[in-house]
Amino acid sequence: MTAQLLDGKTLARELQDSMREKVDRFRQRHGAVPKLTAVLVGEDPASQVYVRNKQQACERVGLASDLIRLDAATTEDQLLACVMRLNADPAVHGILVQLPLPSRMSANRVLDAIDPRKDVDAFHPENVGLLSQGRPRFLPCTPHGVLQILHRYGLSVAGKRVVIVGRSDIVGRPLSLLLGAKDSHLGPDLCNATVTVCHSRTPDLAAVTAEADVLIAAIGRAKLIDARMVRPGAVVVDVGINRLESGLVGDVDFESVREVASHLTPVPGGIGPLTVAMLLHNTLHAAELAHA
Ligand code: NAD
Repeated sequence: MTAQLLDGKTLARELQDSMREKVDRFRQRHGAVPKLTAVLVGEDPASQVYVRNKQQACERVGLASDLIRLDAATTEDQLLACVMRLNADPAVHGILVQLPLPSRMSANRVLDAIDPRKDVDAFHPENVGLLSQGRPRFLPCTPHGVLQILHRYGLSVAGKRVVIVGRSDIVGRPLSLLLGAKDSHLGPDLCNATVTVCHSRTPDLAAVTAEADVLIAAIGRAKLIDARMVRPGAVVVDVGINRLESGLVGDVDFESVREVASHLTPVPGGIGPLTVAMLLHNTLHAAELAHA
């Protein structure tokens, strides 16, 4: 079997096209442009690329965007003051503090300071709480991207065994909440999974992953998931982004797994573009909340 590839790049473009129309309608109705402001501390090269991609995507759909660059010597208090200013600015609808922050800062303290109604990454504890209660205000961008691609290709998780490798606050844990929830805004196929979350202390990882109908890798270890860990016919979603000298690779060994999986997301061109599209979606939603 050679897996069907799940094309996140094309889907992201389609979602952005429909978003452009929604942004236009918002501007006509409210006479305001939804705006995302990103804050970048220091010079981390990968973060600079991510922030630039997000800004370019904003431009493509007609959202306003702004980047506040703070040098690496910025103190946590200065960063908190910057967040407070953005919280108070009615022209700013979404605030994104690009992670990772310098290690001397507490990411929790900074993320907790963002107004939860402008928290387009959905990392604030209030938004995490709403998500865990099944009444989300914003969906976290990468997990939402995973839902969108499964939805687009008509792949159901309902009643299926889903195994997620990785328990981070950004990907693994919120994704487990969404897929195991009683319902989904994308319909009955994108919820009611039986979800197992694996992590670095899971013994015999391969035995668990091999039972998955849908296997999702969000680990940050290049090519960790190989064909022996995948049940023939499983759907495999690769969230990982690892920079090797040879280029970007996922957490899944693409060449071997594509021979056993039924469907597989490529890296690049899989979940990454959808993460950005979902950020734009949340920015528009934040603006709608502000003007409700
Ligand atoms: P993280 O480091 O916060 O979490 C990694 C998780 O993997 C942890 O829960 C850890 O327990 C688990 N893990 C580590 N080694 C393991 C092992 N050997 N066996 C089993 N589990 C193991 O990472 P994250 O922020 O969740 O990101 C995960 C990956 O997804 C990274 O490659 C990151 O770059 C990528 N990512 C991609 C997008 C996107 O838009 N596509 C967005 C966010 C993160």
